[in-house]
Amino acid sequence: MKVISIIVPAHNEAENIPVFCERAQPILESLGEAYSYEILFVNDGSTDETLEVLKQASSRDSRIRYIDFSRNFGKEIATTAGLHHASGNACILIDADLQHPIELIPEFVNQWERGFEVVVGIRNKSRSDSWIKKVGSVIFYAILNKIVETKVVPNSTDFRLLDRMVVNEFNRLTEVNRMTRGLIDWMGFKRTYIFFDAHERLHGTASYNFWKLARLAFNSFVSLSLLPLRLAGYLGIFITATSSIAGFYILLGKYFFRWHFASTFSDAENLAIFIVFLVGILLMSIGLLSLYIENIHREVLGRPLYIIRRKS
Ligand code: UDP
Ligand code: MG
Repeated sequence: MKVISIIVPAHNEAENIPVFCERAQPILESLGEAYSYEILFVNDGSTDETLEVLKQASSRDSRIRYIDFSRNFGKEIATTAGLHHASGNACILIDADLQHPIELIPEFVNQWERGFEVVVGIRNKSRSDSWIKKVGSVIFYAILNKIVETKVVPNSTDFRLLDRMVVNEFNRLTEVNRMTRGLIDWMGFKRTYIFFDAHERLHGTASYNFWKLARLAFNSFVSLSLLPLRLAGYLGIFITATSSIAGFYILLGKYFFRWHFASTFSDAENLAIFIVFLVGILLMSIGLLSLYIENIHREVLGRPLYIIRRKS
């Protein structure tokens, strides 16, 4: 019998969890005799009755399990913990707030049975999104796709199915600052996509507000590349080049050839150009440092050099 693990990060979802189970269980049972399932909730430092609700649910039904975090660690860590503790042949990550349509789970399983090792839910654009979120996500994916080595599909979500093989590889990754879907994309494997319309959140409010999202975006840039530091380096090269050309022009023009325009520069202005030149050198040094940091960064992440699908 194949086991399907449903992994649900939950932060203040007391009202949603009973509804989630009520809707998910008939769907999971409809998969047929060949499958059994577990629903693994990760209580991510909720301050409401989430824990009590989970205790009750799991005492009624042994297929409902939970992990209780000592405090709020964030969704990325919660999904990671879920993957560490899940036992299924396939694991499905899904939100507790019923924004990800549970009805699609059989379709995810279906694609998995057809041989796909990662099934990614892609969210159709929704009109209810604020413009900040829309513009933000366009910019985010544009930059992300410039700087990462693997292609990231816009609007891909955490609503995903992972084969056991993929989960085992995922569990070897050790970085602390992580974006689960970025890591899954980095790992490769045979993947397919399922499009869905996100529902409105059933109860409660989204805890990912603008600042939390911005921080997540910033974190993923910083953990994926040193582009910002490199930019400082490029700026340095530009400043050094332009100011040294200006400096030489004035030096030659004023003291050797007595060009008219060059002679109009005062000593203070010459000094200013010299200082700008030094700033350029400083920025260039920062860019140079970034090259060393990049090397260290890569070593410290300790990512596996490669991921093997299977050996004969
Ligand atoms: N979540 C979590 N820890 C957090 C914030 C959110 O485990 O610190 C969970 C939350 O309970 C939900 C999922 O992550 O199941 C998505 O969160 P939310 O609905 O707040 O974000 P959005 O729908 O805007 O992505
Ligand atoms: Mg939500």
